[in-house]
Amino acid sequence: MHIYTKTNYTLTFDDFYFHHKLLDGLDASGYINPTPIQAEVIPYVLEKRDVIACAQTGTGKTAAFLLPLIDNLIDNKHEHDISALIIVPTRELAVQISQHMEGLSYFTEVSSIAIFGGGDGKAFVEEKNALSRGADVVICTPGKMISHINMGYVKLSKLQCLVLDEADRMMDMGFHDDIMKIIGHLPKQRQTLLFSATMPAKIKQLSQKILHNPIEVNVAISKPNENIVQGAFLVYDAQKIELVKHVLAQKEFNSVIIFCSKKLHVKALAHQLKRAKLNVAEIHSDLDQAEREDVMGKFKAKRLNILVATDILSRGIDVEDIDLVINYDIPHDGEDYIHRIGRTARGTNGSGTAYTFIAEKEQKGFKQIEELLGKEVPKLPLPAHLGEGPGIYVPSKKPAGTAAATGGKKKFYKKK
Ligand code: AMP
Repeated sequence: MHIYTKTNYTLTFDDFYFHHKLLDGLDASGYINPTPIQAEVIPYVLEKRDVIACAQTGTGKTAAFLLPLIDNLIDNKHEHDISALIIVPTRELAVQISQHMEGLSYFTEVSSIAIFGGGDGKAFVEEKNALSRGADVVICTPGKMISHINMGYVKLSKLQCLVLDEADRMMDMGFHDDIMKIIGHLPKQRQTLLFSATMPAKIKQLSQKILHNPIEVNVAISKPNENIVQGAFLVYDAQKIELVKHVLAQKEFNSVIIFCSKKLHVKALAHQLKRAKLNVAEIHSDLDQAEREDVMGKFKAKRLNILVATDILSRGIDVEDIDLVINYDIPHDGEDYIHRIGRTARGTNGSGTAYTFIAEKEQKGFKQIEELLGKEVPKLPLPAHLGEGPGIYVPSKKPAGTAAATGGKKKFYKKK
């Protein structure tokens, strides 16, 4: 099996030879490179193999099954019959996957519908009408799907692919029997994909019952070193530079790395810290190799004690005794977070501190990183002289496009 990691080879979506209509959807979604779970899973799904994958939310698991599923259906769907069924534990996840599906399949003729219950009689009738007309992909919660199947109008005899997403959660919620009941209505000759954040024995047992000779994929991410004290500040962008100065003034740090997402931020911050008479240098892609080596040499020799850098420094550099890492901007994803903060707590004393500054627009992204870590990073109060920071972002209960948010007009059914 090909093992993809971000550091050894950068795959692109062209490597999967997807249909051009699907590549257009990918372009519009802004995805450029597949995530590790996508790189691992997509080739097998395209080959119509059964797959059992251990992957958490935030890894890109949804597109790992949606992309090959849409690609397989573009030239191979049956009018008026359901070709793929995606069973999920909650209506929120059904809505989320449905939105993903809408975006990725936008330029194709593959249609989808979300069936997630709750709602009123009117919503049920709308779902019934859509199911009777037929949709290529149905995303559903188990209970509601069974209600529709029991009414006799759901056409499942030509189903090609079944996906169980967050299977461990579905088992915990007591959906085992409902899922088996639905599977009883599906053809035996089909592809089955099972995604789960954890792999307890009951998931293994389920997979033995419903998967055929599956490929096993596991891209669970590594956990951060436990000796790193992690903290985060909710800040406005305009407060970030002053907060860096405040943190640096709290203690005598030997070696500090401050990560920024953009060169522009690196330059602006390094400039301000130099003005504050701190012993600081910057490192980013505008520096040539000799300049970078010069800066790194001074930093390793402890002649320079603060380095402001882009992510070019987040992997591979081996400098001991870095006692503080500051994420001036949040990293791109959970893996980058682990690599960045892993620059500290490497030396002989083995401990370190990592602070992350989270601006308003970064809160959602950091929440995803925390989900991936399986742990909330403690939020620390801002020093009084900086004034109030932003509050905690609370996602709207009515995501755009849901029936509830659109006054009862269901938005997830795409006409053929
Ligand atoms: P998921 O783990 O499926 O919930 O996805 C987590 C987030 O990653 C979602 O916001 C996706 O839109 C995003 N995402 C998925 N695949 C990619 C990719 N290849 N490149 C960039 N973002 C992605």
